[in-house]
Amino acid sequence: MSTMEDVASFRLRARAWLAENMPRIDPDAAARPPGDDDEEWTKARELQQKLHSGGFAGICFPVAYGGLGLTPAHQEAFTEESLPYQMPLLLNVPTFSICAPTILDMGTEEQKTSRIGAAIRGEEILCQFLSEPSGGSDLAGLITRADRDGDTWVLNGAKTWSTSAYAADWALCLARTDWDAPKHRGLTMFLMPTKAPGVTMNRIRQVNGSTEFCEEFFDDVVLPASAVVGEVNDGWRVASRQLFHERTAVGGGSPYVSGRGDRIASTPASDPLEIARVTGRAGDPAVRERIGAYLTTQKVQEQLVERVSRGIQGGQLPPPAASFMRLLHAEADWERNDIAVQIAGALATTGTGGAVVGVNYLMRQGASLGGGSTEMSRNIISERVLGMPREFAADRDIPFGQVKRARG
Ligand SMILES: Cc1cc2nc3c(=O)[nH]c(=O)nc-3n(C[C@H](O)[C@H](O)[C@H](O)COP(=O)(O)OP(=O)(O)OC[C@H]3O[C@@H](n4cnc5c(N)ncnc54)[C@H](O)[C@@H]3O)c2cc1C
Repeated sequence: MSTMEDVASFRLRARAWLAENMPRIDPDAAARPPGDDDEEWTKARELQQKLHSGGFAGICFPVAYGGLGLTPAHQEAFTEESLPYQMPLLLNVPTFSICAPTILDMGTEEQKTSRIGAAIRGEEILCQFLSEPSGGSDLAGLITRADRDGDTWVLNGAKTWSTSAYAADWALCLARTDWDAPKHRGLTMFLMPTKAPGVTMNRIRQVNGSTEFCEEFFDDVVLPASAVVGEVNDGWRVASRQLFHERTAVGGGSPYVSGRGDRIASTPASDPLEIARVTGRAGDPAVRERIGAYLTTQKVQEQLVERVSRGIQGGQLPPPAASFMRLLHAEADWERNDIAVQIAGALATTGTGGAVVGVNYLMRQGASLGGGSTEMSRNIISERVLGMPREFAADRDIPFGQVKRARG
């Protein structure tokens, strides 16, 4: 039996390999919205391929599916060493932190071997087809349908807000397969090619100019029986696992990501300390006080992520406790954005470097929606962690086909 390399020696090996092989961070690349152009995705795939050929990809994924089978402590050591270097951060969410772990937990052997292995090798990107134009919070109320036709499934409907779907190869797609069952019990999860015949994908332009979100329309998209993840009509169990990984990822507690943060949060243009230096306000007592508040929240967030992650892993906390991390992430992100604008002042809209602060601010509310809204997090914490009474739902236990809903 082979013994696991200890974290200290893994760290030293990673440090030497990174210095030798990975390009250093390019400060000029930080100003664009992330995930917006094909070049960036090509670059992310190349960086991932480098990590893979160097033997540093998929650190916490099992060896059987192409990973290294190491611990979160190994991953954290690698991440710390990787901070000065360009990393394939675009692949962290949702490919590695949400989709791949969901396939790992719920997929068939074939799905695990093919999709997780290809993602780790930097050959494939994954995305999520969950939210629909009729609403995302009530995910179990979705109306995209999958009808059985012999050995195949035929999908019709629409999805929206799919992060970076245009760059992805495969999607986890939740659809309704039984309209006579109550809403949570008639759903099935599918693993589908994003470019399957019958899929029309459009990019959505956001207020900050980014076009990384997509919407998809399905017209008789045919999928094989082997596309089902988990069991037919048991898709809510798969989706619940996916949402757990999503909240953990959004909250910053996923052991499957390499490198720190999404690109916006990790750019100097978003860092209040850097903004204070650039604008010459680092000595201003009011600015220092705000930076103190920001740094305190960062520390609290780090500690909370560690405590909640350990609690869930050790069974002292139930998986819905991941919502604590998700909630604090949103609050910390709002604070960072607010303080950045307060420090930059008028420069947030007019200055060259400062203008990025203003553009980033336009996405301030994104942190309270992506990964499920903060209101839904509070509902989950109250109902499923604190054991408070469940919110009233008029459609509970009613066959979904009989539930009254607005016609779109
Ligand atoms: C950055 C980002 C990335 C995303 N990535 C993806 C992705 O890759 N794939 C995907 O499928 N979706 C994605 N989404 C969509 C996201 O999952 C939805 O925005 C989210 O679930 C909320 O759904 P909605 O926008 O339809 O708002 P709605 O569900 O219409 O909600 C509107 C408002 O009402 C509140 N509300 C609704 N129900 C309740 C309730 N029961 N109690 C209290 N308040 C309630 C909500 O909190 C919200 O404030 C992303 C969104 C963002 C911002």
